[in-house]
Amino acid sequence: MNLKSNISTRSIVASLIVLTSSCSQNEQLQATATTAYSNAYIIDGRGGEPIVKGTLVVENGKLVAVGPSNEISVPNGATTVDLAGKFIIPGMINAHGHVGNVKGLEKGVWSRENTIAQLKLYAKYGITTVVSLGSDQPEAKFIRDEQSNPTLDRARFFYAGNIIIANTPESAKQMVNDMVAIDADFIKIKVDDNLGTVQKMSIGVAEAAIKEAHKYNLPVAAHIWYLDDAKKLLKNGLDIVGHSVRDQAVDKEFIDLIKEKNGTYIPTLVREVSTYVYQEIPEFFSDPFFLREADPQVLDQLKDPTRMKTIWANKNTQIYKQALKIAQANLKTLSDNGVRIAFGTDSGPPARFQGYYEHLELELMEQAGMSPMKILVSATGAAAENMGLKNIGTLEPGNWADFVVLRENPLDSILNSRTIENVIVAGNEIDR
Ligand SMILES: [Zn+2]
Repeated sequence: MNLKSNISTRSIVASLIVLTSSCSQNEQLQATATTAYSNAYIIDGRGGEPIVKGTLVVENGKLVAVGPSNEISVPNGATTVDLAGKFIIPGMINAHGHVGNVKGLEKGVWSRENTIAQLKLYAKYGITTVVSLGSDQPEAKFIRDEQSNPTLDRARFFYAGNIIIANTPESAKQMVNDMVAIDADFIKIKVDDNLGTVQKMSIGVAEAAIKEAHKYNLPVAAHIWYLDDAKKLLKNGLDIVGHSVRDQAVDKEFIDLIKEKNGTYIPTLVREVSTYVYQEIPEFFSDPFFLREADPQVLDQLKDPTRMKTIWANKNTQIYKQALKIAQANLKTLSDNGVRIAFGTDSGPPARFQGYYEHLELELMEQAGMSPMKILVSATGAAAENMGLKNIGTLEPGNWADFVVLRENPLDSILNSRTIENVIVAGNEIDR
């Protein structure tokens, strides 16, 4: 459905008329710049009571008013969109994705064009911001820098650049400085031995990277697997635990530590699924919500019997399945204990389908025992706050008008996040 199809046509007509300039026509252009979305059930991303019958007013890409419909005065001449019976949530934020470096199942093919296409894909699924934690090229800067714009028609994007794995403190510092030079928003480090198959970066070297990043006020996110590493890194200043702890249950020491350090935890549950799900044809290969954007050629490659058999026979497959259970239990414990959670999926690498995987993650979080409201907050207001992203995440005046219109109430079941009627970024309806 195209809520604003009539509006864009009118805007073009108005713009053309303005070229010949006259007072009344100028007023007409003004009028089309303001849109009121009224009578919707609004969940604002802050975790409080929803507004049962609310109105959002959007002007020049930003929210200028949000509240109960009977308290909001809609400016004269504003275009109104009646959303009675519909649900509005803030556009979702993926705090751990990867953008632009993969095409189909092929890695290392970063391009601007690919990055933009993937940001559009995320937006179609209601993910209106992505933090890319690795494999971003220097030109990513230009894509980020042009997004503070009321004409934006894709997901917003922030980036970490190269993932830092170093052997010495000096080289770690140099790598951080290289990322500072490309104006990265985050520093991403990796402290993991990939199930005992590679040398793990030492905590001392990681600490050097963290200290160097903090000189430039850059938050540091870490790829980790083990509880012990997560604790040591937090003690050394780590800001963001970029994946679930997956080797064992989190304990009181970890909970106290991450809270004391104001650390953020990104679960990326669906990452585990991606490691084993293609051992057979996944159930979601018949989901129309998946198929609407999936590339049939990639699906054929994934359905190749030899490929599936190799995954099935891999001894790590069972470890990852078990790791998902541990990760889900840990998420529930940490959420119950008030740890800062930011929604994130690690989508973007081969066969981790951007957009759809975010909805699988929401489902896995619900399965883990989090309430739909807590999940939504972690994917909106809390994600923005915990990742330090400004003017997004909540539906409040002054923020960008990034939101999703749903047909069913996501508070009844998070699966209703899939009933997308429309996605709006900076006041613009995303073509989907
Ligand atoms: Zn990642």
